[in-house]
Amino acid sequence: MIISEAVLEKPVVQTSFDHLGLIEPLLRAVKAEGYLTPTSIQAQAIPLVLSGLDVLGCAQTGTGKTAAFALPILQRLAAELPAAPAAAGQRSPVAGRHLRALIIVPTRELAAQVDQSFEAYGQFSDLRHTVIYGGVRQRVQVEALKRGVDILTATPGRLLDLIGQRIVVLKNIEVLVLDEADRMLDMGFIIDIRKIVSYLPKKRQTLFFSATMPPTIQALADSILTNPVEIRVTPEAPAAETVEHRLYFVERHQKLALLLHLLEGEIVTRALVFTRTKIGADRLEMRLKQAKVRVAVIHADRTQGERETALQHFKQGKVRILVASDIAARGLDIDDISHVVNYDLPPDPDTYVHRIGRTGRAGQTGVALSFCDFSERIHLGPIEKLIRVPMQVMMNHPFVGSMPKSHRTAAHTAPAAPRDPSDTSAPATPAETPPAPVARPSLLPGRVRSTRRRGRH
Ligand code: AMP
Repeated sequence: MIISEAVLEKPVVQTSFDHLGLIEPLLRAVKAEGYLTPTSIQAQAIPLVLSGLDVLGCAQTGTGKTAAFALPILQRLAAELPAAPAAAGQRSPVAGRHLRALIIVPTRELAAQVDQSFEAYGQFSDLRHTVIYGGVRQRVQVEALKRGVDILTATPGRLLDLIGQRIVVLKNIEVLVLDEADRMLDMGFIIDIRKIVSYLPKKRQTLFFSATMPPTIQALADSILTNPVEIRVTPEAPAAETVEHRLYFVERHQKLALLLHLLEGEIVTRALVFTRTKIGADRLEMRLKQAKVRVAVIHADRTQGERETALQHFKQGKVRILVASDIAARGLDIDDISHVVNYDLPPDPDTYVHRIGRTGRAGQTGVALSFCDFSERIHLGPIEKLIRVPMQVMMNHPFVGSMPKSHRTAAHTAPAAPRDPSDTSAPATPAETPPAPVARPSLLPGRVRSTRRRGRH
């Protein structure tokens, strides 16, 4: 069975969480998070997962897919908890608890985030969860596991390690989630995934999420899902529609100068800057520091401690620039990123979509600034094809480099936008001003901001 917005007569529109069959403690948690209405993937997936079906979800990050699987998993597991504790207010006993749900994700940051979501959505439930990932000592993780856990979020390497040491046992798993499956494949985890799946009971529920669905992913899905219901939240992974895509043609050696120029002129409250390589990220960090810009960096060669500190400083606003490599930034959920800068244009259009998914989240608008030097021009066509809009060529800077013929006309016919009242510089010509963001429907419904209880177990 395929449930796809493209084939449904009417798109699924749910105006309230109350109609999804969720129990009271979960509805209370959703309310505490400030969510007003379910997103499309939540409206579609929650009833299906509650009914025990396998689900194949094609959804990009930022669509609310974590709650789409976490809420019904919490509900299913809560239905069969060990006997209630004697004294009111006590948690159910840990004795006899075993792992019942396993969520596999590609990166440590995403693992921590998913686990925090279980903490938030399960705050009024009586289930225990924890997270394991590599790059840190295993002792704390092992102790948490030994205390008794129902839901485990894990990256593949550390999970296999602990299975090998017989600390993690998967024979009682009832629900498996594979999140960001396409990225898992990109990162070479396919053999690990197959090995992990071989330890699981055949009779289980499996939920499989991926932003893109190329044939290799489809084949993996086919081999581990049983009669899945397919949910496609957006047709063929378009870019976040609340994002403005600005394009800067610039010579490679002038990219740093352009970035510094933009950081001065733009109202950049919080920017994530992507480089293509880890060395590139280190080099950019050094140069920004030399220019007295407060900056943090996150990439796979930094230790887990360094990555956590960098993220913390960025989230707390101690630095407004986070330089990142693609893998480390995958799935990061950071509120209020005003700008994503593609310091290097990614060779793969899906990566562009993943990167810009970090801004314009939860219905807010965001801006993506892409730098394109001569060698990167070949990446533009596929990106514009995937996002389905031409990027806006920007001319209002002193470092305009050569540009391909295809984009010259666009640069000169750029429509004028209302000026920012705080901008007191000389009047801009039409070609100099960015276009006003097009009001398009957002992927996520509104959210009342709340201070989230996101402690970790
Ligand atoms: P995800 O795609 O799961 O990473 O979620 C992206 C962001 O959307 C997270 O910050 C969530 O807290 C937020 N979110 C999830 N569901 C909703 C909802 N129903 N309403 C508003 N925000 C949501």
